[in-house]
Amino acid sequence: MKSKLPFMKQKETSLNIPLNNDFNLDDFAEDHFGTSYDTPLRPDAFELDDKQKIEIIESHFREIMTTLGLDLTDDSLKGTPARVAKMYVKEIFSGLNPANKPVARLFENKYNYQEMLVEKDITFYSNCEHHFVPIIGKAHVAYISSGKVIGLSKINRIVQYFAKRPQVQERLTVQIANELKKALKTEDVGVVIDATHLCVSSRGIGDTNSSTGTANFSGRFNEEKVRSEFLNYINAR
Ligand SMILES: [Zn+2]
Repeated sequence: MKSKLPFMKQKETSLNIPLNNDFNLDDFAEDHFGTSYDTPLRPDAFELDDKQKIEIIESHFREIMTTLGLDLTDDSLKGTPARVAKMYVKEIFSGLNPANKPVARLFENKYNYQEMLVEKDITFYSNCEHHFVPIIGKAHVAYISSGKVIGLSKINRIVQYFAKRPQVQERLTVQIANELKKALKTEDVGVVIDATHLCVSSRGIGDTNSSTGTANFSGRFNEEKVRSEFLNYINAR
C-alpha cells in the first residue's frame, strides 16, 4: 500500500530504507526507522499465555535490576519485577495480542450525514520499539461515512489498541488508518498524529521541544479540499 506523509516535520522518516552492509543499528534506532507496516511478531507469539509470559518477564526483569546493582530485598524494590511484567503484558503491550482487539460495531447512518466526521485530540501513550520508553501523543481521525457509522468510543479504542505495542510512529499511523478503513468499509479515512518521543526528549540528543507529525490519507482525503477541511478542523483551537 502507498502511504503519504505530506507534512512530517522535524524527524522525517521513511519506511523504505535500504539495508546494506554499512547498516548501523544505532543510527537505525536514533533515526526511528521501522521496517514494515506490520508489527514484527514471531509465528509463536501467543503460544504462551499471559500468566506464563508474566512469570518469564518477571524473572528476567529481576535479573536486569540485579545486574544494575539494585538490592531486590529492599521493600520498595522487591515487587517491581512482578509489577513491570504484569504492566507489560496486561497494559502497555496488550495491543500485541489480537485477542484484545476491539470489535467495531457499525450502525446505519440514519441521518444520512455525508459530511466528514472528525474525532480530534485522542490522547494515547505508546512506547518506542527502539528504546522501550514512552511516546506520548494525540491522534486525530476523520472519515466520510459510506452509509455506516461507528461509535466514537470505538475509534478511541482502535487508537489505544495499536498504541499499546512497541511502536514507531509511522507504523502506528498506518495501522490505525488501515483498521479504520476495514471497520468503516470505506477508503475515505484520514489519520494525523502528533507525538513526543521520550527517547528524544529525555535521553540521546535531549531535545525537549520537538514533536513528530505523521499523517495517512486515503480515498477522498487525497483531495485538496477534503484534506484541508480536516486539517483546518484539527488546527482550530
Ligand atoms: Zn526511541
